[in-house]
Amino acid sequence: MSDTDPRSRRVVVPGVRWLRFPRRLEGEYREYQCQEAVESFRVNAFYILLLYMLLITGIYALAPEQVRGWWLSTYIWVGIIVLVAGLLAQVRALDRYFPLYAGIGSFLAVAVSVAIPGFMRDSGSIQLAHVSVIYALVIVYAMVGLRFTVASLAGWGGGLVGALIAEKLGQGLDWQVLHRTYTGISLLGMFLCYSTEVRDRLLFFNQRQLLRQQRRTQALAERLHRLSREDSLTGLANRRFFDEAFDREWRRCKRSRQPLTVMLVDVDRFKAYNDHYGHLQGDLCLQKLAAEFRRYSRRGGDLVARFGGEEFVLLYPETDEVEAQQLASRLCRSVRSLAIPHADNPEMQEVTVSVGAAMMIPGDRHSAGDLLEAADRALYLAKQGGRDDWRMYEAPPPVRLVKERKNDEGER
Ligand code: GH3
Ligand code: MG
Ligand code: MG
Repeated sequence: MSDTDPRSRRVVVPGVRWLRFPRRLEGEYREYQCQEAVESFRVNAFYILLLYMLLITGIYALAPEQVRGWWLSTYIWVGIIVLVAGLLAQVRALDRYFPLYAGIGSFLAVAVSVAIPGFMRDSGSIQLAHVSVIYALVIVYAMVGLRFTVASLAGWGGGLVGALIAEKLGQGLDWQVLHRTYTGISLLGMFLCYSTEVRDRLLFFNQRQLLRQQRRTQALAERLHRLSREDSLTGLANRRFFDEAFDREWRRCKRSRQPLTVMLVDVDRFKAYNDHYGHLQGDLCLQKLAAEFRRYSRRGGDLVARFGGEEFVLLYPETDEVEAQQLASRLCRSVRSLAIPHADNPEMQEVTVSVGAAMMIPGDRHSAGDLLEAADRALYLAKQGGRDDWRMYEAPPPVRLVKERKNDEGER
């Protein structure tokens, strides 16, 4: 059941306030509520205990001399219950049992408080005893952090058991005083507890919606960011991303006076491949080549991107001429080793590529565009030289051609 289910919206519609979400959301709310409650109870337990000690000290001072000892031994029990609950709350492993032990503790505290006046004789003592009934109820409904249903069960259940004990084992209760204190405060406490829970649920629901919305927006932003830098056919970086990275690396290598190498890779006779095998097969071929080229990004700043159409570009910062030549040569070889059939490639009936590489130590006399142009010229020469091969330019000027095709023949 989703959050957009009409039943989950009830809680946010003014006037109709069910203290229940649809099942999955309800589970999440209870977990959240339990955690919030136990966290504040860890601290509150000691204030509750302090308040209680103040209360019994007051009662002790007001109680007649002859019953003081009896008073203390009776009231100590509620103190012990609060202390035990407070100590349990310090054990984080028991956090999820908080509604259980705090509920049972509340139930017992109310039962004891309601039973006590049933064992008293003079009306002064009985009235004093009812002060602790009020105290117990205020704590249970407003300070422990129980949900409305648990607090109500503890409050009314404890009251019933306390009254039964007083009636069966003691002298019975003064029902008029009990109604003025116990019943009145219980109803008030329930109202407070209910309003708090409604507010709490609203807060939880809104927070959750906000979080969902935030996650959705974040996922969308990430997707858009990825799409803006990725080529959809091959999954490689796209031209825009390459341009930015190229500019960045150019400036970085200029600062550190390190060489920067760029390689343009163009598929040989790809038009003929499309014409023979169809455009879809052509796309598949580009994907296979892209997967192979991806392996040629070795270090942090290296980049393999689709330059456009059936052309790819590889960027290697801090890569010198020798390394660049080895990479270019290996690249041609690894495309050959893919052995993708190309019936209309007159040279070798398999898909091959031509590579134009250029290397420069960026300086003020050249621009990044000059380096790319040198790579493009090298590519042109590789095509002129009969394809399935590489050429390399080294700059700054005079730009010189490093390798002629003839030299490469022995390499194959
Ligand atoms: P050369 O060896 O001189 O590079 O010859 P070529 O046929 O590869 O060169 P040309 O530039 O004439 O043809 C490139 C072809 O690449 C044309 C176009 O149909 C094809 N092409 C470009 N982009 C895509 C694409 O995304 N998918 C497919 N299937 N083909 C593409
Ligand atoms: Mg081309
Ligand atoms: Mg081509």
